[in-house]
Amino acid sequence: MDLSHPADRTRVPSPTAPPAAAEATLAEVGEFGTIARLVARFGTGPQVLLGPGDDAAVVAVGGAGGSGGGRVVLTTDVLVEGRHFRRDWAEASDIGARAAAQSLSDVNAMGGRATALTVGLAVPPGTALAWVLGLADGLAAESALVGAVVVGGDLTRADTVVVSVTAMGGVDGEPVTRGGARPGDLVAVNGRLGWAAAGLAVLGRGFRSPRAVVDAYRRPVVPYAAGPQAVQLGATSLVDVSDGLVADLGHVCASSGVDALLESAALVVDEPLQAVGSALGTDPTDFVLTGGDDHALVATFAPGTALPAGWTVLGQVVAAAEERGRVLVDGQAPAGEGGFRHF
Ligand SMILES: [Mg+2]
Repeated sequence: MDLSHPADRTRVPSPTAPPAAAEATLAEVGEFGTIARLVARFGTGPQVLLGPGDDAAVVAVGGAGGSGGGRVVLTTDVLVEGRHFRRDWAEASDIGARAAAQSLSDVNAMGGRATALTVGLAVPPGTALAWVLGLADGLAAESALVGAVVVGGDLTRADTVVVSVTAMGGVDGEPVTRGGARPGDLVAVNGRLGWAAAGLAVLGRGFRSPRAVVDAYRRPVVPYAAGPQAVQLGATSLVDVSDGLVADLGHVCASSGVDALLESAALVVDEPLQAVGSALGTDPTDFVLTGGDDHALVATFAPGTALPAGWTVLGQVVAAAEERGRVLVDGQAPAGEGGFRHF
């Protein structure tokens, strides 16, 4: 059971993975290597406007290539009991809200707004009905924050609880990918960084306080208005922080072929994070740099863009040095920048 990095995001690196032996395991090939091989089997089509590798896909509906129809933003996330949540650490409604938030945030990270969700739910037969209904209440409540509705799903039996949420939505304008950051752009964040990681750190040591960070872990406060706002502000790239600021901004840098320089003085280390850092003897800046699950949005904007309240500039985009896609803090590669790997 590994709850040290509960974020669960998948993305596709450059499909240059070497061939693996037929008997290779996922542990040997790795998360990204496995995904690259899976994606290669699925092919594509004219309706695929943006395929695997971003926060969500963009698909034309009602007409191939987008003619005579609309565009849908589409994403799926899976939460597994024991790996992504524990039923003794959070109420069922909180777990449902988190499950919805993960997928709703990925639509947000394309600059979109979700409209509908479907939910795949697997539960042991001895699970209390009240727990499942609580989960549903959390899914509904989080979805309602963006005006989305759960419109269907599937219920089946399993040995542990598994919740899979698929969200679809639309973008008022052009979807913002991870690939458009340019040298000179501002790097800015909207939303909390490190709160959920600090909450998980104290829960993992058997504590239940500070309450603010434990609550943040149980139910993230997602900046749902910021995605559509980023589109209006002309964001050049957009990603939600689910694996950590450095890891997720690193994916933007890799996709865009640039580096990012962050200033540590611009990183806000909120008071509850400082309290957790003091109590646990850890540097609270690590929560900010590597913590996922708060689903903050990180965007890049053309230099000189006037950013409204809620956005904090953390640094800037620069031309890639020799090693492509680096994120540096005060000119140094931060510890723990690798992000989470699931295999
Ligand atoms: Mg994402």
